[in-house]
Amino acid sequence: MSQTIAVIRGDGIGPEIMDATLEVLDRMKLGFDYDFVEAGLGAYEACGELLPAKTLEAISRHRVALKSPLTTPVGEGFSSINVELRKHFDLYANVRPAISFPNTKSRYSGIDIITVRENTEGAYIGLGQQLSEDGEVASLTQQITRHGSERIVRYAFEMARKQGRKKVTVVHKANILKSTSGLFLRTARLVAADFPDIECNEMIVDNTCMQLVMRPEQFDVIVTTNLFGDIVSDLCAGLVGGLGLAPGANIGKDAAIFEAVHGSAPDIAGQGIANPCALLLGAAQMLGHLGKEEDARRLRRAIVSTMEARDRLTPDLGGTGNTRSFGEAISERVNG
Ligand code: ATP
Ligand code: MG
Repeated sequence: MSQTIAVIRGDGIGPEIMDATLEVLDRMKLGFDYDFVEAGLGAYEACGELLPAKTLEAISRHRVALKSPLTTPVGEGFSSINVELRKHFDLYANVRPAISFPNTKSRYSGIDIITVRENTEGAYIGLGQQLSEDGEVASLTQQITRHGSERIVRYAFEMARKQGRKKVTVVHKANILKSTSGLFLRTARLVAADFPDIECNEMIVDNTCMQLVMRPEQFDVIVTTNLFGDIVSDLCAGLVGGLGLAPGANIGKDAAIFEAVHGSAPDIAGQGIANPCALLLGAAQMLGHLGKEEDARRLRRAIVSTMEARDRLTPDLGGTGNTRSFGEAISERVNG
């Protein structure tokens, strides 16, 4: 049976990078079918809804979506379509790889770190958010559950095993946040015991940030709670040269959405010069998720060798190519 993927072409540079990405995937002859659905500004203009029921239905039917950046118009119902998608499908794992590519302006080479961030609890879900009437005191409830901790840590270990990775670092602040981070850490230790083939270590979040900057090669997979994961994954993106090469996956039990971490970049939209790599790397994550690890590697290798050769790169990478030509250069390399 062939796999159908829900495709959201998105706003701003979204359609341009999606076209380039699908062209590369087509060249790989993976046998996918695409179900094109809308969300964001495009959907709002077409049918007056930011997140049409048809789109949600397509994602839940196909279980896998590839999504370009979306623009959420200010003051139209909800604050972010991405957050809404995450909530709707309970996409609890935010998986963000940071890989070094040749010829980028980064401080390190040889980095290959995946941050697995818990996406549904902790400080970021607005629980108990309050401001006193005089505006002097603000508070918020941080809630961590054993269930939430268990499933994110298990996801990280299973992913590590599937991808042949060697080590998972559990990042926490249990020395200070004794109840919340403490529960996360204790749960993580129990889960780690089920994976004797994978090395597990623990690191306090502040030390993690310093270690990442000083000796990033010691990290393989990082698993952590929502707020720490947000910060640490951006730090990792910075280690390898910024958001232009940063993909992300949002994974739940019943659906998974793959995307570029960057936004819709309205400043360069329509010019055909956006770098398609982040979305292509999101597509590589999708291939791994679908059990096509070898195809995922093939796609990443094609991107690496295109960058090594400086072949038709987009201006953000210092090249004189454009979205289409960069995509073509990668396409020419995906089959060996
Ligand atoms: P949004 O409101 O959708 O987040 P944004 O303007 O914040 O849009 P970002 O994607 O966050 O856009 O981009 C920040 C900067 O990085 C912009 O100057 C943008 O042009 C640049 N940028 C982002 N993505 C790419 C890309 N794929 N290729 C080239 N430049 C990019
Ligand atoms: Mg932005």
